[in-house]
Amino acid sequence: MTADRMLTVEEAQEIVLDSVSVSGIERVPLAESLGRVLAEDVAPRFDVPPHDNSSVDGYAVRAADTAGASGDAPCRLGVLEDIPAGTVPSRKVGTGNASRIMTGAFLPEGADAVVMVENTKQRDDGVEILKAVEQGQNVRYRGEDVKQGQRVLFGGAVIGPGEIGLLAAFQRSQVAVRRRPAVAILSTGDEVVELDEKLVPGKIVNSNSYSLAALVRECNGRPVNLGIARDSEPEIAKAIRSTLSADVVLSTGGVSVGDYDYVKKVLEDLGADMRFWRVKMKPGKPLAYGLLQGKPFFGLPGNPVSCMVSFLLFARPAVRKMMGYGPHDWHLPAVPAILENDLTAGGDRRHYLRARVTRTGGRFHASTVAGQGSGMLSSMTGTNGLVIVETGITSVSRGSEVKVLLMGAVGQAAP
Ligand code: AMP
Ligand code: MG
Repeated sequence: MTADRMLTVEEAQEIVLDSVSVSGIERVPLAESLGRVLAEDVAPRFDVPPHDNSSVDGYAVRAADTAGASGDAPCRLGVLEDIPAGTVPSRKVGTGNASRIMTGAFLPEGADAVVMVENTKQRDDGVEILKAVEQGQNVRYRGEDVKQGQRVLFGGAVIGPGEIGLLAAFQRSQVAVRRRPAVAILSTGDEVVELDEKLVPGKIVNSNSYSLAALVRECNGRPVNLGIARDSEPEIAKAIRSTLSADVVLSTGGVSVGDYDYVKKVLEDLGADMRFWRVKMKPGKPLAYGLLQGKPFFGLPGNPVSCMVSFLLFARPAVRKMMGYGPHDWHLPAVPAILENDLTAGGDRRHYLRARVTRTGGRFHASTVAGQGSGMLSSMTGTNGLVIVETGITSVSRGSEVKVLLMGAVGQAAP
């Protein structure tokens, strides 16, 4: 059923998120798993670290032998062998003896501590210990990081550099993760030309396909650029049919009420289950959403800023849900911030104003940029936040607290 009423952003987001489900599972090489969501629980098949080892360069000893040792009263021990990292000791350390050991090397049997080389003096017939050690000092025990069979990573975890390191330590060369949705991107418009086409009067360059592909990649989806369809029903229908192998479809343009806005009509003719086509927001009021053969189809507005903001508010959460992220990771993070300038808004719908957000003294500060038109693509550069101004509010003064959605990382303000 198409909602003719103009929906609030939250209503529209709920409809979108309820209509998509988590993608299936695939196995990928570990090195390609960054940012993916784990689809299995993981435990190592061996203890990590796999053997007791030394955390310093020095001498493996029996701690009791060093009791009372100091610079003034060193204790003298015989040296049995050298144990470089990667080798296995051949001698057991008995009372009165030590073995020279390197960082990471296997702790020899009999030893229960390591004296740092800085606290020793090498002698022709052995070594002088200048500082006593406790049992266990400078020893990293087998399995102290993770025990064999101990589950430490769970399905649903987002794989970051730490997870990749740990999986490598477990010798996992492949991991099961949620599939990355293939996201087809289709621009529409008779006026739109490609990057390498001649820009003749009346035409504009296709920026939407590129900004969208980058947004898709940023949330770890797989963008598939399907180029530009001209403003004719048959051409748009043909182009939309060609998107059906994708998991998600994004089109841009042709969704408002102009004479050449055919996207909605074509979707309906193709039997799409349309859910809504307008959202009460600026930029980005026209936004057609429906399921075409069960797959989410976002008819995004053509205006370059509306297109990007609509993606961030509606398509990004859907892609992230499909990729297996948990509900807390679906939406852009919202934070309170101090507004650094006066601003005005139309009051007729919720506004999302592009802003530079910094952090000073533990608080976020937001400065909206000049040029907030939906075609002002420059407002999407150098900005990392969207200041929200609710319906009914026509001005907000400097110093007020506002809600900001973060589109990117926040740095400290320049001093
Ligand atoms: P439409 O929604 O088709 O009426 O387009 C709205 C505005 O967005 C018009 O000014 C279009 O020229 C512009 N536009 C549409 N598609 C693109 C595109 N792919 N790249 C940049 N601007 C576009
Ligand atoms: Mg158009």
